[in-house]
Amino acid sequence: MIVEQIWTGNAYRNFNYLIACPETGDALAIDPLDFKKCLGVAKDKGWTISQILNTHEHADHTGGNRGVVKATGAKVIAHMNAKDRIANVDRGVGAGDIIKVGKTVELECLDTPGHTMCHICLLSHTDQPGLFSGDTLFNAGAGNCHNGGHPVELFDTFETQLEALDDDTVIYPGHDYLLNNLAFTLDREPDNDVARQMIKDYENQDPADALLTSMAQEREINTFFRLQSPTVVAKLAEEFPELGDNPDARAVFLKLRELRNSW
Ligand SMILES: [Zn+2]
Repeated sequence: MIVEQIWTGNAYRNFNYLIACPETGDALAIDPLDFKKCLGVAKDKGWTISQILNTHEHADHTGGNRGVVKATGAKVIAHMNAKDRIANVDRGVGAGDIIKVGKTVELECLDTPGHTMCHICLLSHTDQPGLFSGDTLFNAGAGNCHNGGHPVELFDTFETQLEALDDDTVIYPGHDYLLNNLAFTLDREPDNDVARQMIKDYENQDPADALLTSMAQEREINTFFRLQSPTVVAKLAEEFPELGDNPDARAVFLKLRELRNSW
């Protein structure tokens, strides 16, 4: 599996992706908003884009479909319940469905509601797994829920599906929000030295050559995986006495999600 992370340089800080089979040059485009850039990269590499996967229905993820389809005839894949929200979907997918790219690449669909209720993440079946996480999981952060999503569903997705991923899984998110998210982590957990060091190391990073985090790193720097951190819990309990002294993981997650919105 060859992965190209494509930095759009737009105001929303979108990442687009091409996933190619090294044997055949067949490629899948994930959320190819900047379709001209995606088509250009495919051309340079000698790849043929035959499929598009939209992680979810928001326009900054689907807006490039038409351009790619027009140029390549690629088939559009999205969550089975997104068919009336995304134009011209050729294949609706659900949990456990497999998307094949060329001869060698297999990508498993995870049904990951929360950011929206029709959100798909892709998990590669490779020696080192990769998760294409759309707007569900960002580097050091989680997707918002205020445009068709639900925070309780997002918690369940984190708790039951993302937490279960192997430590060496590489995260390929839909946006570059690393530095903002790390700042939120430090706001919630001022003694998180790993997050503090990462800000220093990457404050001037070029998003066109972005840090790729692993799940092991996410467990250290992402507040939404740190619901048991004594500092996170104590700080929340102090600020929001209604949570009580010993809030459960769900209550902590929901309060963090709410705080992140206004932060
Ligand atoms: Zn979105």
